[in-house]
Amino acid sequence: MTLDLPLVARGKVREVYDAGSDQLLLVASDRISAYDHVLPTPIPDKGRVLTALSVWWFEQLTPVLDSFGAGHHLLSATDVPAEAAGRGMLVRRLSMLPVECVARGYLSGSGTVEYQRTGSIRDVPLPAGLVEGSRLPSPVFTPSTKAEVGEHDEAIDFAAVVGLVGAARAEELRELTLALYARGAEIALEAGIVLADTKFEFGLSAEGGLTLGDEVLTPDSSRFWPEITWSPGAAQPSYDKQFVRDWLTSSGWDRVSPPPELPADVVEATRERYVTAYEKLTGRPFA
Ligand code: ATP
Ligand code: MG
Repeated sequence: MTLDLPLVARGKVREVYDAGSDQLLLVASDRISAYDHVLPTPIPDKGRVLTALSVWWFEQLTPVLDSFGAGHHLLSATDVPAEAAGRGMLVRRLSMLPVECVARGYLSGSGTVEYQRTGSIRDVPLPAGLVEGSRLPSPVFTPSTKAEVGEHDEAIDFAAVVGLVGAARAEELRELTLALYARGAEIALEAGIVLADTKFEFGLSAEGGLTLGDEVLTPDSSRFWPEITWSPGAAQPSYDKQFVRDWLTSSGWDRVSPPPELPADVVEATRERYVTAYEKLTGRPFA
């Protein structure tokens, strides 16, 4: 989709347009990425789910942001061009901080790999005996770099965050990330969903205020597990794109060459997961 606005950036999933006066229009497509590749097969309705869910979460998380004197970037999800209806968010343009703020409440994926190797996640030591899917004694902040287009995000420790943004800002990012995760996890659990981990991106507004940007607590930025099947010791069933990652692994794709097309049943099952995550979390039918 191309809008009659200047294109600022094309991410793996979103198009970013200049909407004038320090505003951007973020438009979520149906593209899906896995292992840092955009797959050739879109997932119908995925863009609308990501946008609607982010919009819902911005509202839920406003009290937490307020308590830190911070804000979020959403200005409007309705005042967008017709071609972007449902997928577009008009937002404050931010100067993004070069840190991906990850919070983990459960052990999974690269967190498990790191724990098995070192007994810690980043600079946070953990008790022995945890397994894939275990709940952590308390949630941990595991930041990574915000890589340039085409590069991989790299895990960094807290000292590296201090090096990037300064000590006071680093402390603020860690506390705010953990507070947003805690509130998000609490809301999700009320809906029968375990929020295993998630990634936030923050930036500074033109006035210099710390502002939550990007997408928030979506199946693309988070691991969502049905609480009812949560059982540490193996990979968890999920409402996120783990299903697609698993299919790609079973397809024999080497993660280097261009990724294969997804079969129709995998597309449908993936769409179903995104829609279910939206409906369970918000309690609203996905129109
Ligand atoms: P890449 O751009 O490396 O492909 P990505 O795949 O995560 O990363 P998308 O999520 O598709 O990118 O695109 C959204 C882009 O817009 C991200 O680079 C994100 O950091 C940036 N962004 C989000 N909110 C704002 C904002 N309010 N102001 C400026 N940039 C923002
Ligand atoms: Mg992104």
